[in-house]
Amino acid sequence: MPHIQIFPAQTAYPSREAFAEALGQLRASGEYRLVGGNPIPELPAGSIVLFRYADEVVGEAIVREYRRMWGFLPYEKYLFLNLLTESGGGLEHKNSTVLMASRWTTRTRRTYNNWLNLASHEFFHAWNVERIRPAELEPFDFTKANPTPSLWLAEGFTQYYGPLLIRRAGQSTTDEFLTSLSGTLNGVVTGPGRLYGSPQEMSLRAPFVDAAAALAPTNPNIFTSYYPYGAIIGLALDLQLRGREKPLSLDDFMKRMWKTHGAPEKPYKPADIQAALAQTTGDAKRQSVGQRRSVDTGEGHTGVREAENGGDDKRHDF
Ligand SMILES: [Zn+2]
Repeated sequence: MPHIQIFPAQTAYPSREAFAEALGQLRASGEYRLVGGNPIPELPAGSIVLFRYADEVVGEAIVREYRRMWGFLPYEKYLFLNLLTESGGGLEHKNSTVLMASRWTTRTRRTYNNWLNLASHEFFHAWNVERIRPAELEPFDFTKANPTPSLWLAEGFTQYYGPLLIRRAGQSTTDEFLTSLSGTLNGVVTGPGRLYGSPQEMSLRAPFVDAAAALAPTNPNIFTSYYPYGAIIGLALDLQLRGREKPLSLDDFMKRMWKTHGAPEKPYKPADIQAALAQTTGDAKRQSVGQRRSVDTGEGHTGVREAENGGDDKRHDF
């Protein structure tokens, strides 16, 4: 039996009143266990509530890793709300996330890892999307589509970091991490969809593919999701930065984005991404990322390129 059941499995989302009542019942029932024994609203910063009591240790290790990478946690309190539905997916909020999972998620190592990746992905959004966010999403208007060309960064880099930080936290093996990453890489590189649009163009198609209103039929031959597309750009950029004479990493770029756009909560436009990359490397170069039409398998594998000032189009392989 899971130790945490925020909502019972159900098909409709509960009302605010029903949620409060469910929390009260859970607290009274004693059927759940919380970090430090605190009731849910008083969870300490960085708490993570997972399926089983033993997993609180896993959750703490992951949150600690996030704190190590960023140097801080961006919230006072954060809640992982896990809905035991028989569907999947999650939604990020500024100080919480709602996760959906099957009650059988912990049955196998593979499904458990998938769930951990989901929790980590949504948690990364507390920085990337909730605070470092694309300008086109504002002003928030939930009655309309807010297309942005930057989902390859907002979702894709989050997709890259979710499993990576679990690995860094020692909660997955190198083989597990690489198996998952190579699957993502193969899907992007061998799929034909990338030939039909740049990562920015794929991002702009979100209203048609990410259940904004309804899932439109999507032809995988002409669409590559900005999730894996962006994740592979993240991988490529990370490797490229690590391969420099004075090694940097994608962490440095993300922390730069935090400084210029996350901390001041100043939404970014595509040109700001280029500027942050140039500031990260310190090169007097125009840096271009996310705009190329495809992920090539030949030169310049991943839509990341550096162009000298003056238009010398010099690509770097990695
Ligand atoms: Zn996401």
